[in-house]
Amino acid sequence: MGKFFDNSKKLFENALQYVTVSEDAVKTLEHPKQIIQVSIPLRKLNGDLEIFTGYRVHHNDLLGPTKGGIRFLSTVDLDEVKSLAFLMTFKCAVVGIPFGGAKGGVVVNPKKLKRHEIEHLSRGYIRGIYDFIGPDVDIPAPDVYTNEMIMGWMADEYNKISRKLTPAVITGKPVSLGGSLGRDDATARGAYYVLRSLVKKKKLDPKKLTVAIQGYGNAGYHLAKLLHDDGYKIVGLSDSKGAIFTKKGNLDPDSVMRRKREAGKLEAVYCKGTVCDIIKHDRITNEQLLESDVDILVPAALENQITKKNAAKIKAKIILEVANGPTSHDADAILAKNKQIVIPDILANAGGVTVSYFEWLQNRSGDYWSLGAVHEKLEKIMLDAYGAVTKVQEELKIDMRTAAYVVSVRRLVSAINAKGTAEYFKT
Ligand code: NAD
Repeated sequence: MGKFFDNSKKLFENALQYVTVSEDAVKTLEHPKQIIQVSIPLRKLNGDLEIFTGYRVHHNDLLGPTKGGIRFLSTVDLDEVKSLAFLMTFKCAVVGIPFGGAKGGVVVNPKKLKRHEIEHLSRGYIRGIYDFIGPDVDIPAPDVYTNEMIMGWMADEYNKISRKLTPAVITGKPVSLGGSLGRDDATARGAYYVLRSLVKKKKLDPKKLTVAIQGYGNAGYHLAKLLHDDGYKIVGLSDSKGAIFTKKGNLDPDSVMRRKREAGKLEAVYCKGTVCDIIKHDRITNEQLLESDVDILVPAALENQITKKNAAKIKAKIILEVANGPTSHDADAILAKNKQIVIPDILANAGGVTVSYFEWLQNRSGDYWSLGAVHEKLEKIMLDAYGAVTKVQEELKIDMRTAAYVVSVRRLVSAINAKGTAEYFKT
């Protein structure tokens, strides 16, 4: 069993003391339903053949077809994909959308490939997992180092194989190919709605709050924009190459992104520049950014960033988990002891899958919604989920992550019980 999966299970197991759950339910929730590993042959532009490994994991489909992103990352392994699929099951349940959990990944450093090669790899991955996905089975979406362009290629490949147009098979597509308005900033917007409610509840003034964001990709960039527009002071930003920090200042998210793009000349599918090109601010490391003296810290890059090694050095009073799995189980205990509020990933970043659900609904009905309608429905779902979690938190006097798991486990367990458990069959 891998470390990340073990850690994710501990977060869930911690909630079990507060819910009445049968042994059957625990067993059901702890085991992924299906795992597929594929080899994707890619003829590189120089003629060489390279074989890439891809995974897709369906964790659980109790509440509906499985749903989860695909990441292109050189460090991806089965443990990571299994853990992320596991988190997706609880995330969909906490916001009450009719999906189960899944995840996919390809072991590749996509920045080393040309655009054509990324397209061939994306199509090859779909050919490999074709029988494993479908609008009523499992619906992929973007994640780290995949984006709407890649989702468009993947949906197109699926359609070519099936000889049918099935836009609902993949979400996060370009709007021109059946994507939903508002999917681009959905993850960030969902997190923003939750944070805004918490800030209001604590009677804090956004204009006096400083924010550092680790990861300046889809989720990090859009969140920076939303918070900046609300008056929060963005003092630190980072990407895989490093971080920038300004003690007093207020980074303008759009100019940072413009500079990152200009410097990298936006080659291939990815922006090759870095936030570090903003030279008039202090350059620090990602580790320093996490430990910086800010009010709100947003991990929006990869998992396992806040661990028992650095948890005691984190100064932020609020940690908004936009990334999946950024905090280890050990670190959680340290943060709780220090009275730091962690808005957990399964709630904080659920806006992405929620608008993916909207995209799936729109694709199936053929009725496309305005941006205003998407925002309104997303806000309602996020605030209802936040309300359900804080209610449990206050009732049981527990941290927000445990409360989010309690809410989702209750929903999942009622579905498990409805199918019949050992107790039912013994009577
Ligand atoms: P992305 O590929 O758009 O951006 C990732 C960012 O992280 C990039 O800026 C990259 O430079 C940075 N990064 C990579 N390695 C890093 C490191 N070691 N230190 C610091 N920065 C690093 O990905 P994204 O879609 O924004 O996803 C970010 C996180 O949010 C992931 O954990 C993902 O699972 C989670 N998430 C994304 C979505 C979504 O809809 N895109 C939904 C829910 C959760």
